[in-house]
Amino acid sequence: MKTLQELLYEIRRLEKEAHKRKEGEIWVSDLARCPLKVEYEVRYPELAVQDIYHPSFILGDLVHKGVETLAKEFLEKDEVKVEVEVEGRREMEIGGVKYVIVGRADIILTSGGHRVGYELKYCRSDPGLPLEHHVLQARLYKWLFNLDTVKLLYITPDRITEYEIKDEVSDDDVMRLVVEHLSKARTPKWPWECKYCTYSVLCPFKRG
Ligand code: SF4
Repeated sequence: MKTLQELLYEIRRLEKEAHKRKEGEIWVSDLARCPLKVEYEVRYPELAVQDIYHPSFILGDLVHKGVETLAKEFLEKDEVKVEVEVEGRREMEIGGVKYVIVGRADIILTSGGHRVGYELKYCRSDPGLPLEHHVLQARLYKWLFNLDTVKLLYITPDRITEYEIKDEVSDDDVMRLVVEHLSKARTPKWPWECKYCTYSVLCPFKRG
């Protein structure tokens, strides 16, 4: 019999295997992080696999599963349609090449025709919320799923709070982000990123 610890690792491993990037796909999460990471994930799978065992990622998964399960259990009674882990796809052509922007919304609630997307975030620390890369992700989800409202729900040891993200991205904004991603124009994308990067042990572009 598997131990519970082994089960947690196996679930994370299976999740990772089930969601592999296909040819021509660009994930919403790719557009909100350093573009080199996508390349390094393929070149150094031994490093990529390490985050299966990282406790803070496992804790984040458990928080996601908990909130998603509670939303389904309690909000559906109030005649709210609750969708979890919803996949969205939108095609985009750049320089004659077709790309598909792919994203998974954590939760979409629909009531009276109004659709609210939620992006759930577990964070170890509270200062500086909402974080800029999460805001960008939320804006991209609003665009991808054509949502009326998008919110970030933060769960930290000090606070549980929601932010409605009002800024929108246009097709042109997304196109600019895709071009920036493909050309690797910003490595890292955010000044703090290298400090937390699995690939900082080998990356010549590491800063800080
Ligand atoms: S170390 Fe920095 S520049 Fe290199 S892949 Fe990581 S985030 Fe990007």
